[in-house]
Amino acid sequence: MGKLKELGYLDSEEKIKHSCGVFGISSSQEVGSLIYSGIYALQHRGQEAAGMVTWDERQGKLSSIYGSGLIKDAFEPKKLSRLKGNVGMGHVRYSTAGSKGVKNVQPLKVSVHGKKVILAHNGEIANAPQLRRSLKQRGIWPKSNSDSEVIALLLASLLSQTNDFGTSMEQVMRQLRGAYSLIVFADGELFAARDPHGIRPLCIGQTERSCVVASESVALDILGAKLVRDVGEGEIIKITPQKAETIARVKGSPSYCMFEYVYFARGDSFLQGKEVQAVREEIGRSLAREHSVEADVVVPIPDSGRSHALGYSRESGIPYQEGLMKNRYVPRTFIMPTQAKRKFGVRLKLNPVKGVIKGKRVVLVDDSIVRGTTIGWIVHMLKNEGAKEVHVRIATPPIRAPCYFGINMKTKKQLAASKRSIEEIRLSTGADSLGYSSIDGLVKSIGLPKGSLCLGCLTGKYPT
Ligand code: SF4
Repeated sequence: MGKLKELGYLDSEEKIKHSCGVFGISSSQEVGSLIYSGIYALQHRGQEAAGMVTWDERQGKLSSIYGSGLIKDAFEPKKLSRLKGNVGMGHVRYSTAGSKGVKNVQPLKVSVHGKKVILAHNGEIANAPQLRRSLKQRGIWPKSNSDSEVIALLLASLLSQTNDFGTSMEQVMRQLRGAYSLIVFADGELFAARDPHGIRPLCIGQTERSCVVASESVALDILGAKLVRDVGEGEIIKITPQKAETIARVKGSPSYCMFEYVYFARGDSFLQGKEVQAVREEIGRSLAREHSVEADVVVPIPDSGRSHALGYSRESGIPYQEGLMKNRYVPRTFIMPTQAKRKFGVRLKLNPVKGVIKGKRVVLVDDSIVRGTTIGWIVHMLKNEGAKEVHVRIATPPIRAPCYFGINMKTKKQLAASKRSIEEIRLSTGADSLGYSSIDGLVKSIGLPKGSLCLGCLTGKYPT
């Protein structure tokens, strides 16, 4: 421990922002349990709090429940049964620092001049402070520091004047800078919108009785819904049980977050027509071509490195083996809310399989190096277990710049590659060699045009 501290493994600071999952449904049947299933499938996008809201048209009544922690712990079964209605939405969130638990949990409800808006948001609004100030100047006072509340208040305020959702949402979107995939309930109807760059994912699904919109297609699969399409960049849709209909559009150009493909989305999701697992395997193949090495075994860091490692193994011919066992009951390192929890989490989470590691030249594969803390720990562990060599291969090119679009990389200081060379990072991790995917290799593996991807944290050039 002392040595690791000296090496700087435990020194990273963080200022966490969220990544979230959203789900909305309009149906000819009761939707409470469907929303529950939908957000369950999106649990990987946020593990700190969850909320669900339904609208019972016959009774003219909104019902909502919120809870902190994993969905399995967040809602009492008897409260679930209180969710009545055929329209609703759900949200899983990953809190901002200092606002854990149910504070700022979504879907959030606001009312301006008697106009109610209920909203679930995935993303981050870069100009929220300016917009908050302008709201206050107009006598509209946000109750929190949430950027999502700013969107909801702007929308409710405009809706109170226009009574037209498409026009109001369009006007709000022209003011927002940043990433947002939104589900909105207003005037008894359900809507969704995606920012003009489509930074965060959002897709539409259909069953015989319901139309669904969700952050990822895995939330459609669980309901047996057919993936119809992704919501377009800048598109505003109205959702009825029969269909999703475009009601307005703000001009934009695609800039899909590359990190969704590499790490955030679930492998069995389709994003913009690409199955995430297949993309990850292709990145691994490309990595093997770019950074080949003589070795005995390819070992993934579970779970995020698995598909990349499989691709590396298939391309290089070096056997793939599970050399690190994961304790499944510890949450994902990258989205733990405090550094203390993260340190504890790494030690709890992984243990080497001695027979796979001892005396071997190991290619250790992971999705990314953000802070550089975890990978150093793991190399150290493998060497302690007798690995002859450890060659680290990373699917994401070096992350050199912060993200302003809803991922918890807020300052350059947090990022291992912002000031250090690859060789310096290699030395700090104790690896025998270190190879990252190139940007071109990553883009080619995703299979979308380079200009349609956000690569901001790799290049420092952002879409907005
Ligand atoms: S800056 Fe990086 S993490 Fe943020 S949206 Fe762009 S690609 Fe994704």
